[in-house]
Amino acid sequence: MGIDLKLENFSWCGECVTRPLIIAGPCSAETEEQLLLTARALSANGVKIFRAGIWKPRTRPNAFEGVGSVGLKWMRTVKEETGMITATEVANVKHVYEALKHGIDILWIGARTSANPFAVQDIADALKGVDIPVLVKNPVNPDVELWIGALERINNAGITKLAAIHRGFSNYDKTLFRNDPQWQIPIEIRRRIPDLPIITDPSHICGNRQLLYDVSQKAMDLNFDGLIIESHINPDKALSDAQQQLTPDALKSMLDRLILRESGAEMEVELNLAELREQIDKMDDKLINLFEKRMQVAAEIGAHKKENNLTILQSKRWDDMLKKRLNLGSKKGLSDDFITKVFRAIHQESINKQTAIMNAQSNKKDA
Ligand code: PEP
Ligand code: MN
Repeated sequence: MGIDLKLENFSWCGECVTRPLIIAGPCSAETEEQLLLTARALSANGVKIFRAGIWKPRTRPNAFEGVGSVGLKWMRTVKEETGMITATEVANVKHVYEALKHGIDILWIGARTSANPFAVQDIADALKGVDIPVLVKNPVNPDVELWIGALERINNAGITKLAAIHRGFSNYDKTLFRNDPQWQIPIEIRRRIPDLPIITDPSHICGNRQLLYDVSQKAMDLNFDGLIIESHINPDKALSDAQQQLTPDALKSMLDRLILRESGAEMEVELNLAELREQIDKMDDKLINLFEKRMQVAAEIGAHKKENNLTILQSKRWDDMLKKRLNLGSKKGLSDDFITKVFRAIHQESINKQTAIMNAQSNKKDA
């Protein structure tokens, strides 16, 4: 059985109903000037909804934690001057009251907050009787029920203008992404709550500018409804998330390159392909992590060889190792040619690492 959230359709976005809905603005409000310059440029480029974080949830203390309530006054100026709709993150009851008092139009609940049902319930209670759109980011951990639970708590408080934001999931292993997209999770949200708009947050998925286009295109190919992307008038000087922000003009050219396809039969194919490609990407990332670990062990072996005055190349060992791998490979249907090429390359990289270690150690002795 599906989940029956009492939702309004996406029309609360006003003019922005046409796909994709775009929300853009800096990770954080920093100064009134930075906010206004960014908003003016975005507005001139056709963006209608402006985001900025006023209170920033930072992983470690002593990082920039947002300007606080003073930034809400700047948001009001942005709204008055550009006519843009403003959006900010709320993480507790005080944030809700302050944001509402200053006329913020859309609230979002951040990934760390959605993971905490007590916090979400407090926010939901503070929103009773208020008619405002609320966007709920996925919790940091990949838990579909927890994400749905947060949406339900807000919906139970009477909020019907709801959308989900997919911002990826934290991961201990190093991958290409800052937060692993795990597309099958927003796809499952779509299956369970078909009328809920889903907005992709490529900025927090990618963590860097280079990957933003591919992730945004993928979100469009998967038929998600919109994009929330960080944009800063001077990204390199940003006080938070500098690597992932785009100038308003770079954002515009990226959005202009997006290809919007008709949803339909091809969508099914796209969905299956996307899932399979995601599996491949994950396996490739795992291979790289394994290579890294393997080279660390090879480096340790190098140090032992040095201590015991052994040569780096132990031909017998290499010969035995290759035979074993060829044997296993053929049982798994992998050709001798493939196994030989792969293991030659791995072996060569190990030798390079060991040689580097030996040289470093002898240089130290020479010094
Ligand atoms: C943000 O949007 O700036 C933010 C803090 O996002 P998240 O909650 O996804 O980390
Ligand atoms: Mn950010």
